[in-house]
Parts: sequence; C-alpha cells; structure tokens
Amino acid sequence: MEETKKSLNFIEHIIEEDLEEGYSNDALRFRFPPEPNGYLHLGHASSICLNFGLGETYNAPVNLRFDDTNPAKEEKEYVDAIKRDVEWMGFKWDKECYASDYFQELYDWAVMLIKSGKAYVDSQSSEAMAEQKGTPTEPGVDGPYRNRPVEENLDLFERMKNGEFEEGKHVLRAKIDMASPNMLMRDPILYRVLHKAHHRTNTDWCIYPMYDWTHGQSDYLEQVSHSLCTLEFLPHRELYDWCLDQLVSNNKLRPKQREFARRNLSHTVVSKRKLLKLVEEGVVSGWDDPRMPTISGLRRRGYTPEAIRNFADTIGIAKRENIVDVSLLEFHVREHLNKISPRVMAVLNPLKLVITNYPEGQEEWLTAENNPEDESAGFREVPFSRELYIEQEDFREEANRKFFRLKLGGEVRLKNGYIIKAESCTKDAEGNIIEVQCTYDPKSKSGSGTEESLRKVKGTLHWVSTRHAFEAEVRLYDRLFNDENPDGHKDKDFMEFVNQNSLNKITGFLEPSLKDAIVGDRFQFQRLGYFNVDKDTTAEKLVFNRTVTLRDTWAKIQQKN
Ligand code: ATP
Ligand code: MG
Repeated sequence: MEETKKSLNFIEHIIEEDLEEGYSNDALRFRFPPEPNGYLHLGHASSICLNFGLGETYNAPVNLRFDDTNPAKEEKEYVDAIKRDVEWMGFKWDKECYASDYFQELYDWAVMLIKSGKAYVDSQSSEAMAEQKGTPTEPGVDGPYRNRPVEENLDLFERMKNGEFEEGKHVLRAKIDMASPNMLMRDPILYRVLHKAHHRTNTDWCIYPMYDWTHGQSDYLEQVSHSLCTLEFLPHRELYDWCLDQLVSNNKLRPKQREFARRNLSHTVVSKRKLLKLVEEGVVSGWDDPRMPTISGLRRRGYTPEAIRNFADTIGIAKRENIVDVSLLEFHVREHLNKISPRVMAVLNPLKLVITNYPEGQEEWLTAENNPEDESAGFREVPFSRELYIEQEDFREEANRKFFRLKLGGEVRLKNGYIIKAESCTKDAEGNIIEVQCTYDPKSKSGSGTEESLRKVKGTLHWVSTRHAFEAEVRLYDRLFNDENPDGHKDKDFMEFVNQNSLNKITGFLEPSLKDAIVGDRFQFQRLGYFNVDKDTTAEKLVFNRTVTLRDTWAKIQQKN
C-alpha cells in the first residue's frame, strides 16, 4: 500500500474483506437514510461523510433514502432541508428514495408471512403485550392470539389496512420466539394502525410498517450492499437478518447491516428531538439559528462544507461512543477560513483616537492586502483621517512591558498605516477613557520603503476612520450550553444547561469596502475573528455573524497534552 494512503477504517476493512472473498466492486451500493422528522445535525454529518465517502472511495452509488414510516412526525419541510444540506456538503446521491414508496411491497410481504404462519394479528392491549414480553433475564410467554388461524389473520390484517379498526385495536406481529434471549426477537410488531395522513401517501394507508419491517427490505429493494447504522441497532441486526431470510431470492444481493458509534460533541446536543425542543421553546430562533449544531445553522453561521468534511475525516468513525471536543471542529473552520477569507478592519468596542498632528479635513487612502494567504486576492484601499476608532481594550493609560498595544507614551503601528504615539487621554465624569490623543510619524507609512528601512514597533492595531466607517449589527456567539455534556446528567434535563448569554448583538464600525457585502460573504475582521453576512441583512442594515474567533483553543488543548 502507498505510504500516503490513509489507513482504512473498520468499515472499509469489512468491505475490503468482502471484495477479497469475491464480492464484485460493481455490487457495492450505500445509502444515507435520514428520517425526515428534523434537520440534519453534526452527528448526521459523520454518517453522510461515511456513506458518501465510501461511495467516492469505491466509485459506488449512494442513495438518499427518506425513512418515512411515521406519518405523525414527518414533514416535507424536513425533506427539502435534508436535500439542501446533503447537496451543500458537496455530495451527490444516486437515487432519491422513500421508504413510503415500498408500502405496497412491504404489505405484500407481510401477507406472505401470514400465509406461511410467520405473522399473526394480536388484539391485546399494549400493556398486556408488554407483560408477556418478559425481561432480558426472563423469557416471555405466548399470548392468546399467537395461534390464530391463518385465514382469520389475513382477514383482520386486510381490514386493518382498510381502516376498519381504530388505532391500538390490533397489530401485526412476527411469530418468532417469545423466549429468545434477544428481546427484539420476541414476536416484534411489524404493523400498527394509524389514522394519520402521510406526507407522500396521504390517506392511502391506515396501517404503517415499523422500522424493523422496513429498513432491511428497503435496503434489499434498492440492492444496498452495506447498510451502515449506529450502534443502538446492533441488537436489531438479528431481526434485520430474520426479515431478509423470509424474502431474499438467491439471485439477488443480500444487504448486510453493520454498526458504528454515534458521534457526540461537547457543549451541545445531537438529537433531533432535543433540537426540536430548543426550536419549539424559543431558546433559538429556528433550526438554522447560528448557534444550532445543525448543518443549516452552521452554514448560516459561516462554516464551510470543507471544514465540516475535514473535521469528519479527522475524527473518523469509531466502534465505541465518545465525545469529541467541539473545538476540533472550530480548528478546522479556522484553518479553512484563513485560506479563503479576505481581511478587513472593523472595530466592535470603539474608542476615539485623534491624531493631533494630522491636518484636519485631510484624508488619504492606504493600500491594504486582502489576504496574505492568497496573493490572487489582491489589494484594496482603506481611508485614513485625523479621527479614528480603535478597540477600547487596545489602550491603557499604564501597562507593563508585556502589553504590546497602546499606552501613554508608547508607540504602535496602525495596520496598513502609520506609527502613532499616545500623548494624552480624556475621561468622562465617571473616569472612563473617552478619547486618546496621539501624534503620528509621517515617515513610517506601511509599504513606503523596504522592510528594513521601516522603523519597527511591537504592536499593530486595527482601526477605522470615524468619518468613513459605517455601522452594522454584529452578532457574537458563545456556546449554546454551559456544560460540556448537557445530555449526560441523570438527574438533570439538558435544558437546564442552556447558556442564557449565548447571543450578544452589538453595533460594529466597519471599513467602507464592506458596504457592498452580500448575504453569505465571509471575512476576517482582523484580530477579531471570522465573520459572515447573515440572512437578516436588509437594505438599511448589514448584519454579521461571528463564525469563530481567531483564538485557537484546540491548539492550546493539544499543547497541554
Ligand atoms: P436523532 O437521535 O437525532 O433523531 P436518528 O438516528 O434518529 O438521530 P436518523 O434520521 O434516523 O436520525 O439518522 C439518519 C442516519 O444518520 C442514520 O444512519 C443514523 O444512524 C445516522 N446518525 C444519526 N445521528 C448520528 C450521530 N450522532 N452520529 C453518527 N451517525 C448518526
Ligand atoms: Mg431515527
């Protein structure tokens, strides 16, 4: 194997073994099977990258399959959002499939099962059935309807389908083994009556198949070779195989279910049900709130698909669950944004700075490099004048030698401009500094001489010219949860850990070149982080999100270890 080739993950090992044992590469097919009951999140991103990544590695088709067997919770809005997100991640599916398209086949197969004595209609209450089911350590017992005659089962099942019974009156169960050590094999329910309209089949059906009676058959109908799911389905594998045993023909490919560990991330939750709760309770503004760990939230926040894919590649897939530090994702975002984002200047907490020896009314346009990481990004002009804003925290009256920013009597360079020296400052009645008076060195202009001929100073500050700057709304984000593992407390609900200060809206002062920015544009505000233009932008007001700060907490964690 070439040295540069990445080591294989355990799923790839399974596929390699299959290929060695004579499986044809042409027979490989994968699927990504979301249930359209919410928006995709970072956990799904791992599964998307795994399945579509295998498709790319083996040049095999990957289906996008909506697992839409539950009419109560599924909506078209989610289907559309899921398609948008997978596309945005940069993947192309082969077929767009719906489990609901197989309702007829699934029904016919169920009838076949009944005819061969392997399924029956149970008419007990769910409590009675639960009681007969036993426990992991005690076998279950047969219920009174287990040996119902085939004809009666066929009749009842058809009438269930025709809507003659109310919900909960009857279910169809597989007749397997009430004493199986695997609880899921104790005559699992295959169908239940539901009088609910479905987003695709409308009111055609009054019965809906369960996940276990759907997933393997859908894989089989689509001829998916490797059906990859998360570990909680490991005990379902026996049932998956039992269902296939009943219907697979010899000349067709038989799908295999294999399991990998769910991805969990620190400081957030990745469960659609919990994310829905945040939306419904108004903790966030919607599924695409920039604080959400959803793909649409991350997109709105300014994350790139490349960053998410690099992150998924780095963490790979695991056999056991663990929590990945979300700062690793942020590391990948910074790394990519550093390459592609134009640099601009903006001041978020302004302090007025007056250059007393710069003529009043004069202005000049300084040349600024757009991206030192990308020469093709070119240059732009930024206006300079006698009155500027700098960040409040960049000035102190007094400070020790480690403070490389501006202090009285000290010098700094203004980015793309001149060296200035702080001479004095003005305070308000409460003692807050409200203005700094400086002088500038006209011979120190950036780019006006060779590197060597220019005087050097330790600190460089970003700034904007007060007269030229314009105001924009800037949204700064903190983690949505205060706790590293909000989901991991037995006695406390994850909602208790919501960070009440995760959104801070402020007014920023931006260099004029940003006036033309449009929704989605990404920038580095020098020394402040990466920002993008939010969809809440209007003709009157630009709105920016901070995607991520410049500080690299992941690098710090790495150094400590
Ligand atoms: P949720 O708990 O958020 O509802 P789910 O597993 O029910 O998740 P599905 O829409 O059924 O969501 O998932 C589609 C695919 O994505 C499945 O193959 C599932 O195993 C996978 N998946 C979901 N969450 C994760 C995760 N956290 N890590 C890895 N894969 C995941
Ligand atoms: Mg699910």
